[in-house]
Amino acid sequence: MPPIDTYAVFGSPIKHSKSPVIHSMFAEQTGQQMQYDKQDVPAEQFKAAISQFFAQGGRGVNCTVPLKELAFQRADTLTPRAQKSKAVNTLAMQSDGLLLGDNTDGVGLVTDLKNNNVTLSGKKVLIPGAGGASRGILLPLQAENVTSITIANRTVNKAERLADEFKASGSTSGCGFNDLNDQQFNIILNATSASLSGDLPPLPPHLLANDGVCYDLAYGNEDTPFVTWGYQQNAQKSLDGLGMLVEQAAAAFFIWRGVQPDTAPVITALKS
Ligand code: NDP
Repeated sequence: MPPIDTYAVFGSPIKHSKSPVIHSMFAEQTGQQMQYDKQDVPAEQFKAAISQFFAQGGRGVNCTVPLKELAFQRADTLTPRAQKSKAVNTLAMQSDGLLLGDNTDGVGLVTDLKNNNVTLSGKKVLIPGAGGASRGILLPLQAENVTSITIANRTVNKAERLADEFKASGSTSGCGFNDLNDQQFNIILNATSASLSGDLPPLPPHLLANDGVCYDLAYGNEDTPFVTWGYQQNAQKSLDGLGMLVEQAAAAFFIWRGVQPDTAPVITALKS
């Protein structure tokens, strides 16, 4: 019998990663023979860990905090969306021996928004946060014909620089949180990591237009502070990033196995 194809998620910390559970549910559902593990890999060990994993016949790796930029540098070839976002969350060993880098975070977010009947076209979007996640979602959001994207960040020049990189492909601007006074948005996508420490980004009141939607890229067993804030602002919907996590995993699974898993039962199982 040939050896089983192996995959892994690398990151640090990695203990609480749900990726192994998600990929084993996908594999069972689609009848794919594969193994998917998690490995604690700090940034300084990334190069060696990648070399060892693929030298041992590994087929693919997901990269999470703090490794996405290192994975971008390590990939031999990149998809256009990974090239533009300068961050890679999926590495796939190809038959020619080259390591392909992709970024499935943005498509994961957009798919989850669509699954939840959130229309993006013609909407004014605010993204608090200008880190790696923000970088990964900009191009797929622009491709959905949003009217404009405003990136607000604590470190203002990071938001301005990020917006500059993406403004050629759609109306995109960067600012600080204080500059948001008197503005309104249809959709607010929290791409700060504030929720991870139980905090909220410093958002002024009255930011959300009538029938607006809030979405926190972070997720937890209970509502995140931003999801709660969304309800307090009378959001039509206030969602967390669990669906995005499953959808970005499904896109990675498709790159590796050529099979599209059904995400709905996996999201339901994780929520329960
Ligand atoms: P980064 O570390 O790259 O960036 C963090 C961002 O959050 C920066 O813009 C930082 O601002 C800002 N920030 C941190 N704390 C605060 C705070 N208290 N108030 C305001 N701003 C704050 O992280 P990522 O971009 O990789 O991840 C961001 C979030 O997205 C995380 O919660 C992560 O879990 C989530 N995520 C979810 C995914 C999913 O599949 N659901 C996929 C990828 C990410 P500054 O620049 O000023 O420091």
